[in-house]
Amino acid sequence: MPAPAVSPTAESLMAEVPALAAHARTATLLRPSEGAPGVRDSSAGGPLLWPEGKPWPVCRAPHAVQVREKLTDDEREAWQRIDRARREHRRRNPGRSYPVTEEDARIQEQIMAGASGLDKVTWERMRWVQDTSGPGVPMVPVLQLYARDAPAAVPWPDGADVLQMLWCPNEHSDPPGQPRYWGPTVALRYRSSSCAGTLPDPPRPDRADDCYLPRPCVLDPLEVTDLPDENEIPEDLCAEGDRWAEAHGVEYHRTPACRPGWKAGGWPSRHLTGLVPVDCSCGARMRLLLTVDSSHDGPSVTVGRHGELRVFTCPADPAHPLSLNIQ
Ligand SMILES: [Zn+2]
Ligand SMILES: [Zn+2]
Repeated sequence: MPAPAVSPTAESLMAEVPALAAHARTATLLRPSEGAPGVRDSSAGGPLLWPEGKPWPVCRAPHAVQVREKLTDDEREAWQRIDRARREHRRRNPGRSYPVTEEDARIQEQIMAGASGLDKVTWERMRWVQDTSGPGVPMVPVLQLYARDAPAAVPWPDGADVLQMLWCPNEHSDPPGQPRYWGPTVALRYRSSSCAGTLPDPPRPDRADDCYLPRPCVLDPLEVTDLPDENEIPEDLCAEGDRWAEAHGVEYHRTPACRPGWKAGGWPSRHLTGLVPVDCSCGARMRLLLTVDSSHDGPSVTVGRHGELRVFTCPADPAHPLSLNIQ
């Protein structure tokens, strides 16, 4: 009788490489799918258990908005002349790349004037600017998690058994406290499920990017053991992990380690940035609390270039400011 196949989980890897167990964390894969969650359910993009009288989070950070600037006739003609020269060169020298002259590069740089894009249909430069006007934007629900659905993946503060994540569904460039960050701003709230009532009509944002408005989803939580990115473990353990993964026909990254998808707890992938430690201003190394993943189904949100938004919090005190990272 053939031996039962060992599924390539973190547990089966740790059985062979026990030293990895010291690096294991509990994660809850949230596995959202479209549905009609209520306030007493864990959900993504669903209604929140919100005591009346508690203020709804409002984003007052500057919003990054794109403005369009018409090119002058001279600028448009200069750009078209360079494009024509390029086409002509390609026609005469098939397969050879066009040598951009310093002069052309200088002219184009001058025309772009630091803008992020050029619309060659309307001949407009597109530029992101910081908009500080307006009374603030009410945030929208992204996630509600009851402790019964993620008992070990979230460090529940005393008296709290509901974790809520909201975000401002707009672009922000380096919002307060989040250097080198581009994306929605995030607020977290911890509550007790014993609190009564719920706000009947939460305020809605008057401006939003559709990619940041999650469709209501129910969750199908699954607790797993998650191992760290290759960059976060000693080299010899990393080599053992890779050997094991190869023997099982899987990748170490994303199979027993850095599990993909919406999740609570666990380890963040470092596939784009390498190891960049996230430290709290109190000095503590912050830990991954929540991951929001881009997808076309389920909540159907897109963060970054179809990436993940990760919320890090301070293990010393959950009230310390959170840290956001997209990759
Ligand atoms: Zn905002
Ligand atoms: Zn701290």
